[in-house]
Amino acid sequence: MDPQTDVVEEGFQIDGAIVPTGPMAMFPQERHYRIPRVVDPKSSVGIFELPGGILHEGQLLREMHITELDGEDEDVLVSDASLYALRMNAVLARKIVRLGHVEDPATIGRLVPLMRVLDRGTALIAIRRVTHGDVIYGLEVECPHCGQKTTASPDLSSVTYFRPADCERLEWEYMLPKASRKAGHDVVVKWHVYDGERELLMSKVGKQIGDKDMLTWRIMGRMMEYDGKPMELTGEHFGKDGRIVQNKGLVELYRTVKLMSQADRNSLRNEFRRVEGDIDLEVGAKCPNPICGREFPFSIDITDRSFFFPVETTPQSG
Ligand SMILES: [Zn+2]
Repeated sequence: MDPQTDVVEEGFQIDGAIVPTGPMAMFPQERHYRIPRVVDPKSSVGIFELPGGILHEGQLLREMHITELDGEDEDVLVSDASLYALRMNAVLARKIVRLGHVEDPATIGRLVPLMRVLDRGTALIAIRRVTHGDVIYGLEVECPHCGQKTTASPDLSSVTYFRPADCERLEWEYMLPKASRKAGHDVVVKWHVYDGERELLMSKVGKQIGDKDMLTWRIMGRMMEYDGKPMELTGEHFGKDGRIVQNKGLVELYRTVKLMSQADRNSLRNEFRRVEGDIDLEVGAKCPNPICGREFPFSIDITDRSFFFPVETTPQSG
């Protein structure tokens, strides 16, 4: 299907054809849309819309010009020398050749780390689409029911994006229901939308602690204030070598988030998603094992190296 046919007026919004289930069902219909690819094959440049956009000098930049990956980008992508967020900053700054009306590479380089993670993910998908096309051919997946390995070929043009609740607003407040009942007053969390700077801090954390405590750190990374008390994860909590520095402020932030009830943490996470929007990267596959034959969902991992280094770039014949 030509993704262009999904386009109705007001940019890229689609009609009521897609009704997501599961966690994505939380997003109201008017925030769903697909992003068509408008590529000039001669120049290998594509024009895409950002679901959120970035505020720059009072203007919301919503459109990006993306160019394809070259040899220099390949070396950045496979390098283990720097953190994931830094590598992505480098690639995004090189491949986004225009952001709204901004074409100056130095300005784009400064704006990239400030982009919402939702938009950074959208830009990475756009780079993949311009470089290798919309379809990921021969993606290896494993049936969760019987363990049978098979391949799937998801189409990136049919990925659904969910707009942020408010594209111009980055700081939010949320009242924790359980903590407020216990305290007898409104316990409010002030938090910041997940962006490239916060993703970089999380890259540093992830390198040191792996997956352990990551749910706690993801809340810590967004937190600005808890019940009237400022507490925020910043670059100051990391040494020159990127190691976590356990000072008083950090310990307090960690303990506060760790001691929050699971119910409050869960409702806060739902609020993050509701406000920040999302990308639905879940697709379906069918198990080829004749005894099993079940359908199962799997997620396209845009952070995996293979996303930019596909095994196949054309459909397999026979
Ligand atoms: Zn199976």
